[in-house]
Amino acid sequence: MNLKSLTLPELGAVLKEMGQPSFRAKQVYIWLHKGVRSYDEMTNLPKNLRDALAKTYPIHAPKVVRKQESQRDGTIKYLWELSDGNCVETVLMRYHYGNTVCISTEVGCRMGCAFCASTLGGLVRRLEPFEMLDQVLFTQVDSGLPISHIVLMGIGEPLDNFDNVMRFLELVNSEEGMNISLRHVSLSTCGLVPKIDELAKRKLQLTLSVSLHAPNDEVRNQIMPVNKAYPSEELLAACRRYYDETRRRISFEYAMIDGVNDSVADARELIRRLKGLPAHFNLIPLNHVEESPLKPSSKAAVAAFQKTLEEAGIPATVRRTLGGDIDASCGQLRRKYNRENQKD
Ligand code: SAH
Repeated sequence: MNLKSLTLPELGAVLKEMGQPSFRAKQVYIWLHKGVRSYDEMTNLPKNLRDALAKTYPIHAPKVVRKQESQRDGTIKYLWELSDGNCVETVLMRYHYGNTVCISTEVGCRMGCAFCASTLGGLVRRLEPFEMLDQVLFTQVDSGLPISHIVLMGIGEPLDNFDNVMRFLELVNSEEGMNISLRHVSLSTCGLVPKIDELAKRKLQLTLSVSLHAPNDEVRNQIMPVNKAYPSEELLAACRRYYDETRRRISFEYAMIDGVNDSVADARELIRRLKGLPAHFNLIPLNHVEESPLKPSSKAAVAAFQKTLEEAGIPATVRRTLGGDIDASCGQLRRKYNRENQKD
């Protein structure tokens, strides 16, 4: 058990077991959520308690194995080594509205999307709640930049690690912890329909991002195996239910792939299929992955696609590519590191 995965009341129960007065839990919780690396940093705790905690519940903190800073836009990418030797990536992006971290939710991924570097070696394991929290905490500590926004768009499929992700959200949102509003959190999924319904029931204020990437099943089946389990019609129906339940507009991600999903006819088909669903489109020029034959769309194709959506009243933004000079997209750094170290 890791204390950093516990809520404040749960931590209280552990400390009570150890014979501690009730105010201790809050002290320990606050320190843990500051990203301390040792109990000795918890200066308002008696020495014997610090020693007892260190013995029973050692503090895990990820090690920085690579850190790359973009010369262009200040984006910082971290490759962390977890306590079992596995690595995950976190990216810090500096937007005008606040510093945003993109965190990983799994080591690897089993979804198999054709354009994505994170899934090439399959799923190794899911991350524990504290391992997601640590990415936010230690990015803030290491960079010295206050983090206000989180996107779950790194390595892994968040809804394939549902319970741990929900617990992470509770932790990061807690008043005594980082106190990050769920309105500042986006969760991205490739489209696990039953889990979208489960999420809807929780009525969280976060933004649900759905990786759609195709106007129909014919195209989506080619690039996203998940579509065979949950075809796009079912996915869009789940998005409608999600909206009805939460009243939160869905954000669709759409990687623009040359000659695959980027024609004006594709945009028109999307418009027809999304009729009446409040949505926003994030158009992402495909990041080229070495192992894949897929290529990014031309600037002109992206612009025409965007214009078609917007004229139909669907807001569409073209995502700025940050950190293009530092392998900052989706599993590329981990993959490179593992290759260099013969881990893959
Ligand atoms: N598993 C989740 C979240 C992780 S990926 C999901 O599928 O949504 C975050 C986003 O990056 C997803 O929309 C994913 O499809 C997209 N992505 C992955 N590889 C990409 C690439 N090479 N170029 C552009 N977008 C990519």
